[in-house]
Amino acid sequence: MTQVQETLVLVKPDGVARNLSGEILRRIEAKGYSLVDIKLVQAERSLLAEHYAEHAGKPFFEPLVEFMESGQILALRVAGDRVIEGFRALAGTTDPTTAAPGTIRGDLGRDWGLKVQQNLVHGSDSPESAARELALWFA
Ligand code: UDP
Ligand code: MG
Repeated sequence: MTQVQETLVLVKPDGVARNLSGEILRRIEAKGYSLVDIKLVQAERSLLAEHYAEHAGKPFFEPLVEFMESGQILALRVAGDRVIEGFRALAGTTDPTTAAPGTIRGDLGRDWGLKVQQNLVHGSDSPESAARELALWFA
């Protein structure tokens, strides 16, 4: 049974600013996934609010949107069998302090004492999220 999927990956402003885009792309490509589309974006607040709509009202929502507006984002359309869960595994868990070594967040991220975790990457969390998010970022 084929499970070829596409997912949205974002290298967040901290990853772009720290010149880690290449290292993150390297990990995605080394894993065997394919880049379908790629672009640098200065995201509008409206796009970010829609992207993170599930978190509206949470205490980290406003700091999260401000962080994502703070610099350029590298948006990627990535393809492969089971790539949605595969990229989430490559990224590691949300909190970079405890994300497993070997993952993007575990190897390259840390807590900076801010109101939002700057954890380098976003990856869609389900086929439904991937379809919704890819339509937002690659309309
Ligand atoms: N976030 C945070 N504190 C939290 C939960 C989330 O700073 O307690 C930030 C973090 O940057 C995270 C983003 O909000 O990546 C979206 O949260 P989500 O729970 O969707 O985590 P993800 O899917 O990115 O692992
Ligand atoms: Mg999420």
